[in-house]
Amino acid sequence: MAKHVVTLIPGDGIGPEITTAMRRVVDATGVDIEWEIADAGEHVMAEYGTPLPEHVIEACRRNKVAIKGPVTTPVGTGFRSVNVALRKELDLYVNLRPAFSIPGTGARYEDVDIVIVRENTEDLYAGIEFEEGAPETAELIRFCAEKGVGTIRPDSGISLKPISITGSERIVRYAFEYALANGRKKVTAVHKANILKYSDGLYLDVARKVAAEYEGRVEFEDRIVDMTCMGLVLYPEQFDVVVLPNLYGDIVSDLAAGLIGGLGMAPGANIGAECAVFEPVHGSAPKYAGKDMANPTAEILTAVLMLKHLGEFDAAEKILAGVKTVLAEGVSVTYDIKRTNTGSTDGAVGTQAYADAIIATF
Ligand code: NAP
Repeated sequence: MAKHVVTLIPGDGIGPEITTAMRRVVDATGVDIEWEIADAGEHVMAEYGTPLPEHVIEACRRNKVAIKGPVTTPVGTGFRSVNVALRKELDLYVNLRPAFSIPGTGARYEDVDIVIVRENTEDLYAGIEFEEGAPETAELIRFCAEKGVGTIRPDSGISLKPISITGSERIVRYAFEYALANGRKKVTAVHKANILKYSDGLYLDVARKVAAEYEGRVEFEDRIVDMTCMGLVLYPEQFDVVVLPNLYGDIVSDLAAGLIGGLGMAPGANIGAECAVFEPVHGSAPKYAGKDMANPTAEILTAVLMLKHLGEFDAAEKILAGVKTVLAEGVSVTYDIKRTNTGSTDGAVGTQAYADAIIATF
């Protein structure tokens, strides 16, 4: 029996290509993983009537560790995003998105090393939505008027932004524990508490209380989200671990991906108390599907996070070193890296050839 059994969800669009490249790179390190393939996404809807069949969720629960490619969110079908559903079903409350500079990507900055810790279950992503014109929306509008909470135009759609003490406490605590375990110096809690007093205000209160427990061990600061965005662009080196509620986390992590060379470079992990699902930040980039063009770096760096989670530190380091070598050489790189480095995609290699170049460094 293999040392680790990992659920592999190839996904849609470029997912199958980049997960194949990732798997080849991971297997080439010699680490003992049995991959259990579980298909989810738009392409399984005809067969199962849903993009996220129950057996896929079960496979993640059983193996406790899964890695996935991106999944297309079907538009206008009434199905919620597979990613959001998986995070909810498995209570994967942490979305960890490290953004660190690797020379050779053509990124605008060279010294970025930020870990974004995004809350994954609450906030405007909780999925509590009131459609414009629906009777329950009218009732909510009436309720707010009657209670003197505020006036909402009758032709409004409404999304609720719940933020709890429980949700805030566990995500901020995770950020501090991550900082301690990884030799990080500072945690920045990001919010808009000056305007959103009862949701972000509560988050900030909780963050300050949790931070007090780590005083003297990890530095703490809080920043307003708009100022955070400006600060990240002006002086990204000032940021270390950044913990945010769900929506700001989503936006700011894409900003952070931009600092390090784009979405093709940004890995991610969804972590809960019971299991973890690893996935890159980017989507299924359908226009590149089947073309052997997409950059698998984000998926491969996602596997690096997974290997560390599995305690396979040597394999993780080997892959990271290989990625750094190939990018620094700048020869066997995909179209997006060529484009940022030279202004043209001429001479770019395909997804699998890039993986071959990494494997050749082992
Ligand atoms: P996207 O798939 O991330 O692609 C947007 C653009 O980013 C691409 O056109 C490409 O830019 C660049 N890019 C993304 N991944 C890349 C890679 N591996 N290598 C090189 N370039 C890459 O975003 P989208 O088009 O908005 O979303 C497509 C679908 O994915 C949607 O259905 C969305 O819901 C879904 N999605 C899924 C996840 C997930 O599964 N976790 C996350 C986000 C979005 P250039 O064309 O400029 O080169």
